[in-house]
Amino acid sequence: MGPLNRLVGALREASHCVALTGAGISAEVGIPTFRGSGGLWERHRPEELATPEAFWRDPEKVWRWYAWRQELVFSRGPGPAHTYLARLEEAGYVKAVITQNVDGLHILAGSRNVVELHGSIRRVRCTRCGHREELAGPVREVPPRCARCGGLLRPDVVWFGEELPRDALSRALEETEKSDLFLVIGTSGAVYPAAALPALAARRGAVVVEINPEETPITRIASMVFRAPAGEVLRAVYEELS
Ligand code: NAD
Ligand code: ZN
Repeated sequence: MGPLNRLVGALREASHCVALTGAGISAEVGIPTFRGSGGLWERHRPEELATPEAFWRDPEKVWRWYAWRQELVFSRGPGPAHTYLARLEEAGYVKAVITQNVDGLHILAGSRNVVELHGSIRRVRCTRCGHREELAGPVREVPPRCARCGGLLRPDVVWFGEELPRDALSRALEETEKSDLFLVIGTSGAVYPAAALPALAARRGAVVVEINPEETPITRIASMVFRAPAGEVLRAVYEELS
């Protein structure tokens, strides 16, 4: 049996398949990942920009980076991996998508049970009054100010060193514990606590599958590994199932 048939068989047999996704699946529509080539912006590393310290030191600089990322995100639609994951959910094979991505593309693609662990770049939050707002496009002024209180707005995302939203984390843990098939797609497995979910699934007896062109720390606990772009693998799987 070829590897693709093994995955197709596992999806047919699974009662609760969950996917954990990362920046790699959005790389397919031209949104850069943090790690690997193309992750830099004006010679800054994301780890130097996506922190509360960087924001309070220079809100304008951090906001210029986010405004640039918002331009990208708002101009791109879902890619093949987002689309086929949504179709697999609609067909009953996938029960939940846990994502580290902040681009909102799983929801746009039609996935319903989506846990956004790291928030959304399409939303802002006031650092003074806590007011949240969905954006229709990139921010116009940098740094943007709250319409209610004039406070400084920040992107409603989780920065390095910050805690994850409690309800998102508990939903992610619940889905992971329920899973018997756990797909890890397009993530470097470097950002915690998200990176701990595959091992938790494995401990609970789930079959862990990695889809990533490169080796990661997840590889050694995966029982199936696909060294190929996510969109390609998910399309082949979906076509085989339907
Ligand atoms: P990462 O940048 O650390 O790793 C990306 C991974 O994707 C790499 O392992 C790479 O080999 C793999 N990859 C590249 N192309 C792929 C493809 N076509 N198919 C499958 N895999 C592919 O990303 P991460 O693990 O998600 O962690 C980075 C953090 O940065 C997250 O917290 C996330 O919130 C944030 N981030 C989000 C976005 C987004 O929302 N689109 C983009 C960049 C970073
Ligand atoms: Zn406010």
